[in-house]
Amino acid sequence: MVSDPRFPAGSQPFERSTSREPIRHLYVHTPFCATICPYCAFYVHTGSAKEMRVFVDALLGEWKRIAQAHPVEIETLYLGGGTPSLLPLDAFQRLADALRPWEAFEATIEANPRTVTPEKASAWRNLGIGRVSLGVQSLDPAVLRTLGRRHTPADVERTVAILREAGFRNLNMDLLLGVPGQSPASWEETLGRTIALGPEHLSAYELTYEEDTPFFQARAAGIWREEEGRTIAMYRTAWRILEGAGYRQYEISNYARSGYESLHNQAYWRGRDYLGLGPGACSTVGSRRWQNRRRTQEYIAALQADRDPPREEEALSEAIRRRERCFLGLRTSEGIPVSWIDGHSEDLRALLDQGLAELSKGVFRLTPEGRLLADGIAALFV
Ligand code: SF4
Repeated sequence: MVSDPRFPAGSQPFERSTSREPIRHLYVHTPFCATICPYCAFYVHTGSAKEMRVFVDALLGEWKRIAQAHPVEIETLYLGGGTPSLLPLDAFQRLADALRPWEAFEATIEANPRTVTPEKASAWRNLGIGRVSLGVQSLDPAVLRTLGRRHTPADVERTVAILREAGFRNLNMDLLLGVPGQSPASWEETLGRTIALGPEHLSAYELTYEEDTPFFQARAAGIWREEEGRTIAMYRTAWRILEGAGYRQYEISNYARSGYESLHNQAYWRGRDYLGLGPGACSTVGSRRWQNRRRTQEYIAALQADRDPPREEEALSEAIRRRERCFLGLRTSEGIPVSWIDGHSEDLRALLDQGLAELSKGVFRLTPEGRLLADGIAALFV
């Protein structure tokens, strides 16, 4: 909400760090997965435990370089990927010793259900990881097979029990809607069974067909069709069921029990500066954005030679960051200060009249129905 002191009404559309102001948000990309899912467009590949240890050495090298170049005080740490829960414990321990997750307000690790053991869960907990984001996707075995996922609904239940036993009190579960062959009944059942597992946070993402994936090719070949009407109906079902169960939609795809909203994601949506480590990871600091090249071997070789990993960099103007902040803000329940869209009173009135937006105390926000059109609405204003 706009009463949050971190986001006062009328505040700047993005938070620019001065050169000496600490950066508070860190993302770490681990590119390893046990198998590659046919819809996935992240930078991922398989690898042995030995390769993961060499990779963590390189990560530590990048961290050292980046911490020398920028003042960093980590408030949120997000270990994503890929599947960071695959990292061997000794490598994870070395990473944690460097990043000190126990000092962060929020430290999250992404995990796949089959990769979590009681030993790993209690080690993560003891090292200050407070939040686990589980890649559940569905609790329907047929949908999991379509997605190429190897876990079963029983694996998910077992994993939740292991994590609770280890002391985790903040779990997210990622779900996918709009999967080929996924019926409305299957989606409702997945939502109900997920709620019964009691996560504090739920993400319900629409499946997208990303280029260079087998799913994209299947759609291009006419094997699968995107059914927009069915996907929109599933979004509405998620909103109805999750809000009814006490989860608040605070971003188009994200729901949380009160007090469990993801601080890390909110930092992105609020336009805060952040650093990313690992191949493919992106960083944004003031008027600079850079992305490490998506090649693990190049990444490791550069850091072994005591060089920065190969990167692509772009300059960000204030206009670009304002535009991004507007697009992201309209996807959230925080909305944006109405002062950012001065001069668009006709569009604004039309959106209010159609029940797609609300205006209150100087804040303009989309309703859950309006968020379905968030990108198109943001394009009206920037
Ligand atoms: S487990 Fe996640 S990151 Fe890995 S391939 Fe599957 S979708 Fe991609």
